Amino acid sequence: MTTRTLYPAERGNLRLSFEYFPPKTDEMEVQLFQTVADLSVFDPAFVTVTYGAGGSTKARSLTTVRRMIGEMGIGNTAAHLTCVGAPKAEVDAVIEEFLAFGVRHFVALRGDPQGGIGSAYQPFPGGYENAAALVKALRARGDFEISVSAYPEKHPESPDVAADIDMLKRKVDNGATRAITQFFFDNDDFERYLEQVRRAGVQVPIVPGILPINNLAQVQRFAGLCGARVPEAVISRLSHLEDQPTERFKEATHIAAEQIVDLARRGVRDFHLYTMNRSPLVTAVCDLVGFERMPVQETAVELPIRASA
Ligand code: FAD
Repeated sequence: MTTRTLYPAERGNLRLSFEYFPPKTDEMEVQLFQTVADLSVFDPAFVTVTYGAGGSTKARSLTTVRRMIGEMGIGNTAAHLTCVGAPKAEVDAVIEEFLAFGVRHFVALRGDPQGGIGSAYQPFPGGYENAAALVKALRARGDFEISVSAYPEKHPESPDVAADIDMLKRKVDNGATRAITQFFFDNDDFERYLEQVRRAGVQVPIVPGILPINNLAQVQRFAGLCGARVPEAVISRLSHLEDQPTERFKEATHIAAEQIVDLARRGVRDFHLYTMNRSPLVTAVCDLVGFERMPVQETAVELPIRASA
């Protein structure tokens, strides 16, 4: 465990949340639940489980959320939900299942176009037209939390940031209570975006999405697809460490921790970490920043029994 922290002054003032994705295999499932258990020491405000566009991970998302709430006792698990490529009845049935598992927080999304990122988006006939329509349908069902997406560097389909913020405003007007951003690495992009969002009259919390870099090439590929920029300063800190895993891990820890600390100094208090279902790097980042660890007995979660055991 790292003892030096970058942000000792206001320990306890910062809040965390973590994103997980549903596992594809038994091995990945074991890794996921261990990661969830490991990171629970940071007492996250909430954790989220993603949902494949077009329902491609529907069964696995449902199972993961059910087990995290029902078997691990993680009541603040939020369920992502997309509406692309599905009729309303199918999406509504999934909402009902999540509610029956005890979900009280949704992350409501449109999802990528069915033809893949870059192809034209078509609302599904008889489906929810977009994320704003999905938020409205969720809000009509109850008084739970609804988070939505936000894009500090704009969504690739948007003509400009103003169009993005207009969509965010529609989602908030329909009942969203928080936005979580796409990952970014330049905090000036986030600050500029936040100013524009507030000027547009959107007052809900905008929580920065932080992606600790486990694998630079993979992050660069992903960033290219979703319109995010990996600055040269970040690339040059990591690219020469390809064959030095220990040094690379240390540098990646510092990059993410420094980003969080800089945002904290700019007044940000909530941080959403994309965990990639792995705990070592995220743990190192949280320790280096100085996020408080809860006493183990207060955060201990039950690991679920393996379905195939
Ligand atoms: P919206 O908020 O509806 O739209 C995003 C932007 O695209 C808008 O701001 C708008 O400017 C523009 N836009 C939308 N429709 C049009 C249009 N018809 N013409 C022109 N511009 C348009 N994907 C998954 O599949 N599963 C997940 O679990 C998931 N979780 C995510 C979590 C977060 C925090 C984020 C940031 C993204 C996530 N995504 C997920 C990715 C997301 O589904 C894609 O970015 C998708 O392309 C847009 O979905 P959205 O809800 O952000 O759409």
